[in-house]
Amino acid sequence: MKRLVLAVLLLLTAAAQAAEPRRYGLEPEKVAPDTYVFVGKTENFSPANGGNIVNTGFIVTKAGVVVIDTGPSLLYGREMRQAIAKVTPLPVVRVINTHLHPDHIFGNQAFADVGIEALPATIRGEEAHGKAFADNMYRMVGAWMQGTELHPPSRQLPRAVQTVGGHRLEMIAVQGHTDADLMVLDHATGVLFASDMAFLDRAPTTPHAEPAAWVAALDEMAKLPFTVLIPGHGRPDKERRAIRQTRDWLAWLDATLRRVAEDGLEMTEAMAQPIPERFAGMALAREEFVRSVSHLYPRLEQASLRRTGP
Ligand SMILES: [Zn+2]
Ligand SMILES: [Zn+2]
Repeated sequence: MKRLVLAVLLLLTAAAQAAEPRRYGLEPEKVAPDTYVFVGKTENFSPANGGNIVNTGFIVTKAGVVVIDTGPSLLYGREMRQAIAKVTPLPVVRVINTHLHPDHIFGNQAFADVGIEALPATIRGEEAHGKAFADNMYRMVGAWMQGTELHPPSRQLPRAVQTVGGHRLEMIAVQGHTDADLMVLDHATGVLFASDMAFLDRAPTTPHAEPAAWVAALDEMAKLPFTVLIPGHGRPDKERRAIRQTRDWLAWLDATLRRVAEDGLEMTEAMAQPIPERFAGMALAREEFVRSVSHLYPRLEQASLRRTGP
């Protein structure tokens, strides 16, 4: 009898859990006056995290709220909006996609009434790759994506510097992580939303990267007058570690791949190269290194064959 009661209880608990609405539980972190970030986990996409592996943020200006990136799913975008409404009664007036990657854009639907803005190449990229990104996300995080559809930006970013409700926002277009990466520097607060141009304590991803261009852009970024940097992935950074660390990783990655390509190593041998001790605290270092080899190595092998060939 006891066992039967226990079995029924277990069944009821399981049913209650299944019926419970899925939630990310997004909590905004205040990083500067008027400025909030939803800090994601430094993990890979998984059904457990629902794709909440990314940083998104918002600035509360006197003229309304500026949203920077919308997260991995419709549900995430909706939760963002609810969380923003708890901070301010002001409406969302601007929504920006920093670049085309799926963890940054699939909450767009939740802001469809406001309209999304991005660089022209980002809009083209979302239109070209968005469908494949969505399929991939459904495979990797499952039910969290329910109802999510591609909703590319409808507006090109109008001007490089725009003042919104007393915040002078500099829109800085760079390249390296992808062919169009947008950073937002708020001169009113000194916060730099660095997009995926900077990672912190999480290995950078490179599916659309040009490491040499990325390193050059990081050197320019280091000269910007910011006091807090919000990386695309990793904790908000007041110590200027994110730029240094991202640069260090990319320069090592680029040099390592060039060396092993010159040596004529196979791709699997390249993937097995040791990772320096100084990157030991970086989440997903081996996983991202292996992924980077698979993205970047074929090109380098070709280049090195051309140099040595007839
Ligand atoms: Zn990215
Ligand atoms: Zn990202």
